[in-house]
Amino acid sequence: MKVLKFGGSSLANGEGIKAVTGIVAEAARDDRVAVVLSAMKGVTDRLISLARKAEEGSDGLKDEMEAIRAQHFDAVRSLLGPADQASALMPLAIMCNELEEVLHGVELIRECSARTMDLVMSFGERLSCSLAVSYMCARGIAAVLVDAREIVRTDERFGSAAVDFPKSYTLIREKLEGLTGVAVIPGFVGATAKGVTTTLGRNGSDYTASIIGAGLDAKVIEIWTDVDGVLSADPRIVPDAFVIPALSSEEAMELSYFGAKVIHPYTMVPAVERNIPILIKNSLNPAAPGTLIAAAETIKRDGALPITGIASIEGISLVNIEGGGMMGIPGFAARIFAALAREGINIIMISQASSEHTICLVFRTAEGERALATLNRELAPELHSRRIERFELMQELLIVSVIGENMHGTPGMAGRLFSALGRAGINILVIAQGSSERNISFVIEAKNHALALRTIHAEFLSGRRK
Ligand code: ADP
Ligand code: ASP
Ligand code: MG
Repeated sequence: MKVLKFGGSSLANGEGIKAVTGIVAEAARDDRVAVVLSAMKGVTDRLISLARKAEEGSDGLKDEMEAIRAQHFDAVRSLLGPADQASALMPLAIMCNELEEVLHGVELIRECSARTMDLVMSFGERLSCSLAVSYMCARGIAAVLVDAREIVRTDERFGSAAVDFPKSYTLIREKLEGLTGVAVIPGFVGATAKGVTTTLGRNGSDYTASIIGAGLDAKVIEIWTDVDGVLSADPRIVPDAFVIPALSSEEAMELSYFGAKVIHPYTMVPAVERNIPILIKNSLNPAAPGTLIAAAETIKRDGALPITGIASIEGISLVNIEGGGMMGIPGFAARIFAALAREGINIIMISQASSEHTICLVFRTAEGERALATLNRELAPELHSRRIERFELMQELLIVSVIGENMHGTPGMAGRLFSALGRAGINILVIAQGSSERNISFVIEAKNHALALRTIHAEFLSGRRK
């Protein structure tokens, strides 16, 4: 059994769906195949924008709804002859009408809860899968649409629901093991025990593929996208970036957690547990070998390269808390973390100088102001008594993360990294190194984004052919 996942980048239009179907047909010749699909390109963003517009009661709702409808209908018309079009268009039309009704409800009450947003977003994957199944069947592939909500069980954290693995694995086996033909499953979507629609977080279709793969004990999970594999850096920023032939699961997790959008960070978790390799492939260039992600001890790596890859997260803010009054007070950090946790604010990076004079906390900018207000409230007594100094929110920052198993035990790595950045005139605001020594992360000003990535790439990864 193989699981093949295709992202929105592979599903831009009819041509994309045709290419995807060709790849599925080829795979289904030798193996049993389950297919996980994302929404068509740009559709999830459009759905979010539709829901926001409905909430605000602003104009443009109709046009945007029409654009979504047209994207799917046009694909059908470009793919199928008149005889097959009607039966493909019918389920799409029904779903689009249902979506319009949901949006009308949002418009009436002027509110789109996280729960409703998940329902709205789920239409993207459900539409693309319905469309693909119609086309695959017309091409003679026995494709069967499977509702992800019947097999991916989650809690009620709408927007990034947590998966109940044991329950989901049982449902996946029950539903898919006896199925003949190619199961086509919407990615990104799940449901609670009560059947309420949830989503797994942006980019979550990769994660769905891995959950399905683990549930079925697949021999491989293939993630098909629009680049030749995981690259040594974001190719849009570093033109010299090259494909990494093999990565350990830990490296892949760190790269994706720190911003390499090509794969969702959770994807590795179910696959590692069941020892299933993940292969990243390019649907626009299927002949390229891609990137293999597997257990560290099973992969061959280029021993000559000191690092494996570089990633970055934009939209970062930080707060630096300083003051002699923190010294030796047990529980000071715990209070800060507890206060932020109560507000549901996520700390992405922490660093404490050994002098205990400063604690630096790094947030996503969207949560920065709330974090600042929370810290001001929690630390009001210390601020009042001047045990700590007033602190501010620094904005327009970026986390850069340098990742690689080879860094482990290589002396002088950090020195070389920060000397190179120093020569390029880049100021480092905070540094954190994981104790695994697989990752050095630091915060810089956003304006230095491209310069920093290119400098590091040139220092450690130059000389490799693209
Ligand atoms: P999909 O729609 O297939 O899920 P995504 O847009 O989510 O595709 O991810 C693929 C994109 O990720 C690539 O087109 C590329 O621009 C971007 N990307 C960022 N960092 C990397 C990286 N290190 N390696 C490969 N691609 C990357
Ligand atoms: N369609 C969803 C998104 O855009 C999930 C995915 O593409 O993986 O985030
Ligand atoms: Mg993606």
